[in-house]
Amino acid sequence: MTNFEKYLIKTIYTKFGKDNIFYKEDKRAFNFKCCICGDSHKSEHKKRGWLYLDRATPLYHCYNECGTMSAETFLKKAFNIDSSEYKKEYYTFKNKEEVIEKKQENKLIEEFQVDKSWKQITDNYQILNYVKKRKILEAPYTPKDWKLYYIDGKFDSKRIIIPWIIDDKMKYWQSRQFAKDNSPRYLFPKNSQKPIFGIDRLDSNFPYIFLLEGIFNTIFVKNGVCLGSCSMTELQRDILRKYKDNYTIVWMLDNTTIDKTSSDKFLKLINNNNEFNNYFVWPKEVKVKDPNDYVQENTCNIFSDENFLKSNVCGQDKAKVKLLFKKF
Ligand SMILES: [Zn+2]
Repeated sequence: MTNFEKYLIKTIYTKFGKDNIFYKEDKRAFNFKCCICGDSHKSEHKKRGWLYLDRATPLYHCYNECGTMSAETFLKKAFNIDSSEYKKEYYTFKNKEEVIEKKQENKLIEEFQVDKSWKQITDNYQILNYVKKRKILEAPYTPKDWKLYYIDGKFDSKRIIIPWIIDDKMKYWQSRQFAKDNSPRYLFPKNSQKPIFGIDRLDSNFPYIFLLEGIFNTIFVKNGVCLGSCSMTELQRDILRKYKDNYTIVWMLDNTTIDKTSSDKFLKLINNNNEFNNYFVWPKEVKVKDPNDYVQENTCNIFSDENFLKSNVCGQDKAKVKLLFKKF
């Protein structure tokens, strides 16, 4: 989707309100009451304005009396918006993307070693209980012989150390705050590039890759990989490019149907993202926050089910429309 298209969609949703717009997915078209001619004066339900995004450039057509015009002309006639206004806006979009891509210039470290300060989690019943409660060590998609560690921090704050084992080597690691204290929830090694956890263990018979933020969710999702954040580094993007001919690459965030913060995060991701444009949209029936919560509350793991995963994958427009129609 181009920035101009994003701008168009944002504008019509803001001006008309989401309840007054219908989206036809097969046509990539938005349907609403034409506000240039006022549409039918006899029926208030008639909606004859169509904005088509399936053309080389976006096009507006009114089946009442206005006829066909470019989307630029539509913006001008309908809302008196001229091109200088949105051009400014879509150049800002562009700058944002460039900033994200240039950020990380650290080196990729071939292999990390277990640090002397790292202790076995079996030595600490609190941490061991926590890991057991979250079913971490019995997760189906972990590296072979995967071990977690912990460290004691200042003022008795403990952190769990999670090694990123990729191709049998610790290529990276992260630590997670154990109790709620003032320290950051997640920490990553400094001066080292973040690879992709799980990318070495894909099942090629299932041509999907799910991109997740948190590692303790990733290990419950078939062909789930962890980025360690809900954005992507340049290295991670380069790695994924090698897979995109054979796999559909899908973003999977926490459940956006139960929480507004996740939903806002998701919309931001859709708006900023251009290259990998498929999204897992949580079905309404699933009422948990994330895959790890799901397995804690259920005896089966729905995130191992290929059909369940596949059937909730949406393209950018559909995902966006589904999200915009959610009410909190
Ligand atoms: Zn009209």
